[in-house]
Amino acid sequence: MRDRWLADGTHLQFGVLANAWKETVRDAMADIGANLEAAKVQVRRAITRRTDDPAERKRMFTSLKADRWAGDPFLARQMRKHWKRGSNHTHDQIVVRADRHNTVTDARGRLWLAVPGLERRRMVRIPLSTSVAPTGTLRLILRGGRVEVHYQMDASLMRSSQRPCGDRRLGVDKGYTEALTDSDGQPHGISLGQLLTSESDRLKERNRRRAKLRSIANTAALRGDHAKAHRIRSNNLGSVKRDLQAARHRAQVRTEIFTAVHRVVDKAATVVAEDLTKHFAGRKSLGKNINRRLAAWTKGVTAEALKSVSERRGSALVHVNAAYTSQTCHHCGRLGRRDGDKFHCTWCGVAWQADVNAAINILHRAGDPDIALHTPHHEVKQILQDRTDRHRTRLPVQDSSPAIAERRANHPNREQQVGSRSTSNGPTATSPRTRS
Ligand SMILES: [Zn+2]
Repeated sequence: MRDRWLADGTHLQFGVLANAWKETVRDAMADIGANLEAAKVQVRRAITRRTDDPAERKRMFTSLKADRWAGDPFLARQMRKHWKRGSNHTHDQIVVRADRHNTVTDARGRLWLAVPGLERRRMVRIPLSTSVAPTGTLRLILRGGRVEVHYQMDASLMRSSQRPCGDRRLGVDKGYTEALTDSDGQPHGISLGQLLTSESDRLKERNRRRAKLRSIANTAALRGDHAKAHRIRSNNLGSVKRDLQAARHRAQVRTEIFTAVHRVVDKAATVVAEDLTKHFAGRKSLGKNINRRLAAWTKGVTAEALKSVSERRGSALVHVNAAYTSQTCHHCGRLGRRDGDKFHCTWCGVAWQADVNAAINILHRAGDPDIALHTPHHEVKQILQDRTDRHRTRLPVQDSSPAIAERRANHPNREQQVGSRSTSNGPTATSPRTRS
């Protein structure tokens, strides 16, 4: 494409030096290629669903791999469905190769980045708001009148990567009002809920207003008043302010979540958590529901933070099966009821703080002999019920789960408790437990 544009003179209309647009074209082509490969993954799944015939499957896989899918109606249809259209929401951006830029510090200690401008040998200088010079290939994005400089950096050089991790083993539960709760009962990232709620409210209100304005503009256009329609679209329905606000909110949430994970790693050498990336695969579009979109997105950020902070600070991240961890009493192992931020165990007669209860269960899962990472949901429930049934009928416990051994040790009055099961505060009266 680059050679063709150079040959047929298309590049003359860009008004940018070749070195600048060549890198941008390379970048765009890489994006298109990545989208194409992502689409092929979906189409391969569709092929497996469509036919069981090995020869037919092989023929389609081969056409797909060799990019000959356009000739096959089924493959072409599938590719049209899954290959994302080339819509780019980052306009005004340019890629600058590592050897085309430099940084200088001025007399006042401020850092300036120099990149090639539109004229030969005339560099454009940009003052930076950081004291760390960007290195490698840069991506410059002009957004809302500011220049963003994006580049890759070695994570081990970041200051936060130098902090050592703790020495304990902690379970964490992803919460709603706070980013994480650990098995000590300590919440981390406590303003997350407030951030998400206010953003969700703000978006709902803003979308409502924009829909109204859009309908006014459409009506005006239908009437033939194109000047008014254009005025509304450019003055009231623009994207500069909207995108800046969205970027600011994303940055706040990321900071809150990453700080929360750092606090956990300050204490822990091993962090036991649910695999939060698992549920994304194959999920249908979340639609327009703002709360669900925000929740799904923060889940992804939490997963990313747990992985990245653990890697950088040398703590271990252990993923466990979290099925029923929020519906099981960490103390007696029975299934109970979650009601808002409280978990009620009718057996123990205690209302635990729900997230703390779940975090302790998650911690115990790491040593669970029966429940593996991929044990199906319904089997987990059966295993949990079998365990409590064994207690109820006083059959010997065959496994050696530390959680169960501990529970048994804590329950010397098992028979008495069986007798008083129906009264909700019976057990606590005979043997109060304050482990949370
Ligand atoms: Zn209980």
